[in-house]
Amino acid sequence: MGEVSRYLPLQGGIVYGPVNSRRLGRSLGINLLPRELKLCAFNCVYCQYGPTTVPGFLSSPIDPVKLPAPSEIERALRSALRLYPGVDYITFSGNGEPTHHPRFSDIVSRVTAVRDELAPQASVAVLSNSAGAADPRILKSLECLDRPIMKLDAGNERLFVQVNRSHPSVSFEAVVRGLSELKHPNLTIQTILFSGEPDNSTDDEIDDWAGLIAQIEPSEVQIYTIQRSPATLGIFPLAKTLLDDIAARVSVRTGVNVRSY
Ligand code: SF4
Repeated sequence: MGEVSRYLPLQGGIVYGPVNSRRLGRSLGINLLPRELKLCAFNCVYCQYGPTTVPGFLSSPIDPVKLPAPSEIERALRSALRLYPGVDYITFSGNGEPTHHPRFSDIVSRVTAVRDELAPQASVAVLSNSAGAADPRILKSLECLDRPIMKLDAGNERLFVQVNRSHPSVSFEAVVRGLSELKHPNLTIQTILFSGEPDNSTDDEIDDWAGLIAQIEPSEVQIYTIQRSPATLGIFPLAKTLLDDIAARVSVRTGVNVRSY
């Protein structure tokens, strides 16, 4: 018998689901990335897909043959929406970071047009690592979505490097600046908190992070903890009571609605 992987399997196609999500209801996922590998400029210590094996996106050009073309994505979404016209969300997610697809902007236009035609009640969202927020073209596409859900796990560059282990071309300062410029009415920040090595849940780290939340002014912040086997050993989930306490403290300090899951 082969070894059972402790990581989540990669998505095998373009459209998957619908999945029942605690935060998004019934959501159809769209994977813009290759089927056989995770493509991401980050290598987060907790990644459920395991370690990033192709590091970076700027230094290693993506083979366009391995990426779905915008027309293919549109076709796949049309077929799925004929089967599931009542979904609540259509969400860019999948095998890594959706905004790394070089034709992300064209894809966003096509997906929102298909949504208008076949499932006007559905919102279009992205689950993003926020690296693209540093690029003004990607920022523009994010503004066209109903709900950009953006990752921010650290309140300073030292911790960002330890937790997200990003490609050196990603500047923490530029990411935070981009998120601060993204004045979207439904901007959501998502943060995974944990203890161990590294630990982004200490009072000092939460203090720095809350300072950035106050600067970015999202409509909502969602905090949660690790649930499956992380990519790196040595980090541990937080108790729900601690998450609730952090959510309450940061809500009071920033005036932003912080929810714990
Ligand atoms: S950003 Fe997401 S896909 Fe990329 S390494 Fe982190 S958790 Fe994994």
